[in-house]
Amino acid sequence: MTPEKVDVLVIGAGPSGTVAASLVNKAGFRVKIVEKQTFPRFVIGESLLPRCMEVLDDAGFLEAVEAKGFQKKFGAKFVKNGRVCDYFFADQFTEGWNWTWQVPRAEFDKTLADTVERMGVPIAYETTVTAIQFNGSDSVTTVVDKEGHESQIEARFIIDSSGYGRVIPRLFNLDRPSNQPPRRALFAHTVDVNRAMDDEPNRITIVVHQRGVWIWIIPFSNGVTSLGFVGRPDFFDSFEGTPEERFRALIASQPYLAERFRDVKLVFEPKPLESWSMTTSTFHGDGFVLTGNVTEFLDPMFSSGVTLATVSGQTAARLVIRHLDGEVIDWQREYTGPVMQGVNTFRSYVTAWYEGTLDAIFFCENPIPEIKNQICSVLAGYVWDLRNPFVRNHNTALERLAQRIEVESEALQPVLLS
Ligand SMILES: Cc1cc2nc3c(=O)[nH]c(=O)nc-3n(C[C@H](O)[C@H](O)[C@H](O)COP(=O)(O)OP(=O)(O)OC[C@H]3O[C@@H](n4cnc5c(N)ncnc54)[C@H](O)[C@@H]3O)c2cc1C
Repeated sequence: MTPEKVDVLVIGAGPSGTVAASLVNKAGFRVKIVEKQTFPRFVIGESLLPRCMEVLDDAGFLEAVEAKGFQKKFGAKFVKNGRVCDYFFADQFTEGWNWTWQVPRAEFDKTLADTVERMGVPIAYETTVTAIQFNGSDSVTTVVDKEGHESQIEARFIIDSSGYGRVIPRLFNLDRPSNQPPRRALFAHTVDVNRAMDDEPNRITIVVHQRGVWIWIIPFSNGVTSLGFVGRPDFFDSFEGTPEERFRALIASQPYLAERFRDVKLVFEPKPLESWSMTTSTFHGDGFVLTGNVTEFLDPMFSSGVTLATVSGQTAARLVIRHLDGEVIDWQREYTGPVMQGVNTFRSYVTAWYEGTLDAIFFCENPIPEIKNQICSVLAGYVWDLRNPFVRNHNTALERLAQRIEVESEALQPVLLS
């Protein structure tokens, strides 16, 4: 059979792949997406960040997503031992979007995929990439459909947006461990009949359970709430039984959840996940670029995944268009650099979260509003705004701030005691 010919083959119809495909298609090139699963399909990653709205807009997806009536998200609430720290995106330092959505990903991703198909990008579902042969920057990709039929696709460029599938890194041995220690999650969708107005569904709630263990509460507009526990693998080992028994025991062990989620109906059996943190030796090569989770995914804390996936999909698409137009691209400077700027900023915040530095900052007695607003911009996903000192100096600013808070609270101690 003669191979199908396209300009750009996109692997994976998640948010990263559909954003990239939409932009390359808009520029007039022939694009095709191959997707291993059938949609709607479950994937975790339900709390978006305002920064990704800019990309959804650029890709032409906003209107279709808006029509779905997803729960709007205006901020993030952190809770520890009855203390609350609220961040509202409207207060953020960077000018930009001050809201986003909380989405069941099956429906959200299908909306993006259907929209890109309507724009003229064909998606071959239930079609898995099994091999790729590069000849310079041209390539021949072997795919297998659900009937087991093998066929070939010739492409001038491949955008690998295969998420946890990590197609090119696996085929070409590019996978490398990330610097994050192993963590585990157990999560489910719950029928949240006890949700009250004062539970404020319009933002994500993060509950500190104990050092290194935290819980997400992500309400959706359909009355279902996503509930997930994340932490050190050994923490989960102390809970025994079936996934549901362990999940219910975890709920009972946290006073903030126990009442609201007691006997709650689960939409599916709680799903365990672990070892999600991974990177690669390169994000690009002759004839391909990696986007989204295939680059480096760190941790669910701070909900950065979809934002990094869409921004990298957008950045890659713009460079691929210029490459196809005959320009020589400095991929390291124009792609790896910006992607790593985002990943590394979140890396500092993830590290500070698990080390407890952010606890000290979030739950301090008298936060300084200007600083809080700068940190708020990072929580909104504006991690490329180098005017923000908490982005520019992400690897030192948090530690310095926590030390200052400690010194000031020690200075206050005698006053408080007298
Ligand atoms: C516990 C946990 C909680 C998280 N919570 C959040 C959150 O609240 N907010 C957030 O933004 N992110 C979150 N994330 C991260 C989020 O899941 C990912 O960052 C996001 O889904 C990445 O999008 P993507 O488009 O890169 O990949 P995906 O959405 O994974 O899409 C990749 C697609 O590629 C397809 N594919 C794979 N292999 C092949 C193949 N061989 N051939 C063809 N197709 C293939 C897959 O079927 C899939 O549909 C969380 C992650 C974890 C582990």
